[in-house]
Amino acid sequence: MGYGRVGSLVGSALARAGDKMVVIETSDDSLDKARLDGAEVFNGNAAEPQILGAANLAGARRLFVTIPEPFEAGQVVQQARAANPALDILARAHSDAAVEHLKGLGATLVVSGEREIAERMVERARGKTPLT
Ligand code: AMP
Repeated sequence: MGYGRVGSLVGSALARAGDKMVVIETSDDSLDKARLDGAEVFNGNAAEPQILGAANLAGARRLFVTIPEPFEAGQVVQQARAANPALDILARAHSDAAVEHLKGLGATLVVSGEREIAERMVERARGKTPLT
């Protein structure tokens, strides 16, 4: 859900691995990119039940919630968890409050951009990551 800066990086990696993917997007440019990466695409707001329902979450293995707005992301997570209790739901967040919100609604893993950046910098400062 969301094929912008974050979602398209995830999608390119999935496409390289030959994984089947379904993308829901509101932007025509992002939809074009997803199509080129081999995704089945749906145009619309992923938080809308009719749009999300088209993605057949009951038959999915994993969901990447890469839309940036935490309230909309939460609506997606909540509906997805209800549709498929076994689904691996990976969500994006930009604050500790959003992390808690998304976990509380059923996300399996919530990745916070700012926290990941800080952790990578600290790892590097402690000599734990190779020079690139
Ligand atoms: P970025 O912040 O660059 O990773 O881009 C976020 C992407 O999510 C953009 O391509 C938006 O069009 C898309 N997006 C944002 N909100 C929604 C939503 N509710 N449903 C579907 N796509 C969305």
